[in-house]
Amino acid sequence: MNYKTYKPNNQTVEYDIAVLGGGLCGVNAAIAAAREGKKTILVEKYGFFGGMATAGLVNPFMSYCAHQTDEMINVGLFGEMLRRMYKKGGTNIPQCYHFNEQILKIVLDEMVNESGAHTLFHGLMTGVETSGDTVVSVVCNTISGMVKIKAKRFIDATGDAHLAAFAGVPFECGDDEGGPCQPMTTSFNLADVDYAKFNKKAANALYTEYKAAGKITNPRENILAFSLPSKNLIHFNSTRISGKDPLDAKERTEAEFIGRKQVWELYSFLKKNIEGMENAYLVAISDEIGVRESRRIKALYRLNEDDVLSCRKFDDGICCCSYDIDIHNQQEGGRCVKLPPKEYYTIPYRSLVPESYDNLLVAGRSIGSSHVAQSSFRIMPVTACMGEAAGIAASVSIDKNTKMRDTNITEVHTILDKNGCKYK
Ligand SMILES: Cc1cc2nc3c(=O)[nH]c(=O)nc-3n(C[C@H](O)[C@H](O)[C@H](O)COP(=O)(O)OP(=O)(O)OC[C@H]3O[C@@H](n4cnc5c(N)ncnc54)[C@H](O)[C@@H]3O)c2cc1C
Repeated sequence: MNYKTYKPNNQTVEYDIAVLGGGLCGVNAAIAAAREGKKTILVEKYGFFGGMATAGLVNPFMSYCAHQTDEMINVGLFGEMLRRMYKKGGTNIPQCYHFNEQILKIVLDEMVNESGAHTLFHGLMTGVETSGDTVVSVVCNTISGMVKIKAKRFIDATGDAHLAAFAGVPFECGDDEGGPCQPMTTSFNLADVDYAKFNKKAANALYTEYKAAGKITNPRENILAFSLPSKNLIHFNSTRISGKDPLDAKERTEAEFIGRKQVWELYSFLKKNIEGMENAYLVAISDEIGVRESRRIKALYRLNEDDVLSCRKFDDGICCCSYDIDIHNQQEGGRCVKLPPKEYYTIPYRSLVPESYDNLLVAGRSIGSSHVAQSSFRIMPVTACMGEAAGIAASVSIDKNTKMRDTNITEVHTILDKNGCKYK
């Protein structure tokens, strides 16, 4: 026998740019930074990339074209990812919205590794060291011990703005009237559905009856289901976990239990009552509950409802968004406001820059914004493009030796142009 005892192998590593969180936003930030020649590390708590798009089973991509057109406004690395997905059979047509999340994992592995960015999987960032206006390092728990990562620039792409929060960046949460964030959702997929026989209208009518009779506990008003590229596989974004705070560990835990309970309730209801669902088989539940909204940081600019609805184009725009204002209520219903046809707005760089630090960007769903504006730009194509721009901005700020708030935006635009991105 050759028993060993655990000896933590704590390490300190140094990078130009450290990206925390390997969702589509963080992945693109790391790829963009690495392609600009920066020594980059991407830290992800799971053993794969994609965040909500993979672990969260979120599908399909919401609009990445100018409203009601086929003109793509979310391009660059996001467009490259779509092309690679199509080539591998992960989408059915090149400009497709529904995708296979397992093939996405493989595409993202390839894109990150080809870029030269380093990855730390199974790395949970748990702490940050700051000095004055500078983030000095982050600490990640790993299987072999603590890894301290020092970097010139940090990009927080954790969705929940964990790094920023640990560093003491002020944030808001919920709406302007003191109301909560949008409710959470546990997504799931059913296989062996006879799609030709599945009548959504009939299913919804019976669902409403069951709800009225108190036989369904899910507060959501209807069943929201999407087809996937694989035949007879259906995706459900249809649970609604209300009244739980995503930033409270106990409540987020409770939300996971409630989410899966609602999955079982809906699955059982469909299988028992709905034509085409007789052989339906529960093949996937999201690895973690889907959080639509949590922290939104205090940034140099707070994107607001008026910016969204007036389709404002900012001088320091870094990516575009054409998606609706889309707020899910805690109980039934929600608020949906569409942008005018052919329109979109842009996301200003300043909304990614926390007031309080010189070398930190926050990218993804937690940028400086109102509750209402966030309900629009939070979608995957937009957070993916935001990530690419954040990686470029961090790289430019190193080259020009400037604070993040003083990043030369003309230079960022030049590189976005080179990468085929749209931002104005
Ligand atoms: C239920 C639901 C339905 C949605 N529906 C749609 C839809 O139909 N279409 C659409 O386009 N968008 C939809 N969205 C929005 C979209 O999925 C997300 O807003 C978007 O994916 C956010 O991307 P992100 O990269 O910023 O964050 P995420 O995808 O959340 O990525 C964050 C990453 O950081 C990692 N991480 C977090 N904390 C740490 C830590 N401390 N250390 C290390 N790693 C960490 C996570 O594991 C994750 O991989 C939906 C969202 C939800 C929740």
